[in-house]
Amino acid sequence: MQHRSLIARQSRRAWPAGKAFALVGGAFGCTFLALLFWLAVDQHLVLEGSQRLLDHAVPATLERFRLARNVEQLRLEGEHVFSGRTPVARQQALFIVSLLASHPAVLADARAAGLAGEVERFLGRSMHEGMSEARHAEWAMLASRLTLLADDVSSEGVNLATADLHQMSATMLQSRSKLLLVLALVAVFVGGFVFLIHRHLIQPLQAIDQALSALGSGQAVTPFAPASMLEIRAVERAIGQLREVMQENETTREQLERLATTDGLTGMFNRRHFLAVAEEEIKRAQRYSRPICVGMADLDFFKHINDSHGHASGDLVLQSVAEIFARTLRHSDWGCRFGGEEFAFVFPETGLREAHRLAERLRQSAAASPIALADGSRVDITLSLGLAEASSCPLEIALQRADAALYDAKQQGRNRVVTAPVGHATGETARQPFNGDAPPSVDTAPT
Ligand code: GH3
Ligand code: MG
Ligand code: MG
Repeated sequence: MQHRSLIARQSRRAWPAGKAFALVGGAFGCTFLALLFWLAVDQHLVLEGSQRLLDHAVPATLERFRLARNVEQLRLEGEHVFSGRTPVARQQALFIVSLLASHPAVLADARAAGLAGEVERFLGRSMHEGMSEARHAEWAMLASRLTLLADDVSSEGVNLATADLHQMSATMLQSRSKLLLVLALVAVFVGGFVFLIHRHLIQPLQAIDQALSALGSGQAVTPFAPASMLEIRAVERAIGQLREVMQENETTREQLERLATTDGLTGMFNRRHFLAVAEEEIKRAQRYSRPICVGMADLDFFKHINDSHGHASGDLVLQSVAEIFARTLRHSDWGCRFGGEEFAFVFPETGLREAHRLAERLRQSAAASPIALADGSRVDITLSLGLAEASSCPLEIALQRADAALYDAKQQGRNRVVTAPVGHATGETARQPFNGDAPPSVDTAPT
């Protein structure tokens, strides 16, 4: 099958495009969903962390800060118990110390509750028993313990929030890395998908487009590798078949054209085609004032060959004469079988003198080419030719004048070239039957 040559012959597996792309798309979708789930887990962890921060860490931190402030306040009020200027001011400070020591935030923390109780008792005793140097020193110890406790409690509050914040930030960092990885994977997947579409859909479609354009403009179609998609392969096959049909049509058209323009026996142009071509050549020559000549040729005593050797031998002689013409004429000359054993020529860009030389060459070639017949005999042939100048008269008149010159050649004894006199444009010389001359010698000796 000719269309197979259109696509390379290696057998590659083909896939239905719909299924193949559904498969790739499905794989992409599943992977994408899995990655989304993976990201969602991290998002959940971050949300959980922030919720924990809001529900526990922040309140606990605030509580610690409040406790630290109470403890610090306790120390300040204790200082006032010692430094108060009046007994009332000292009594008031002691009262605030008692309030702070029984504050729920202080009581909720065992260390603070213990130390606050100790401070309250010590200050009560000091108020009651008097402020000695020793008591001052003891108070200094208690005050520094209160300061340390306030610092510890503040640090605990900060640590409580920091731990959760660290965990959240670690989760968010991890989530960001995962997001980048997911984006990279999606980019790779999309890139791969685009590559596959380009390789297996766009490129084959472009090749098909080129093939169709080439077919449309009658150029040769470059063979291309078969597509991997079944549907595209079907189109490629259809193009192959179309190309085959177009080639068959072209061959038929050429055959019809050949039949319409050539003579079936000799292969020379037929009279109708010759007249059209000669008409064009003469018009062109006259338009550009270029020389041009026409010629008529007739086989001498051809009837005698038919009579002596049979009609088939006569046909063979006609074919051989056509070959002699093909060998002898120039590429620019046109010749045809005008009818029977008569031939016509047109010699573009050729004056009468040059046309005479050409016609003489034709005559000599024919005379020097005895034709071997099927029965083994050889027959000598001669040609009579008439020429006429055609650069200043219509084709029909030029052919009539060449025919009249041919008649003269027959009259003058055949096997010669006669040129029609210039200016003899009417062509009124009627051709008379040739007679009275002896036929040429025929070599009938077996070869
Ligand atoms: P002249 O020298 O005066 O031209 O003599 P002639 O015998 O060549 O001319 P004539 O007109 O008397 O005979 C032409 C012959 O050509 C008659 C015809 O049978 C023969 N003829 C015409 N067409 C064909 C053909 O296609 N095949 C064959 N074998 N003979 C043909
Ligand atoms: Mg003849
Ligand atoms: Mg004739």
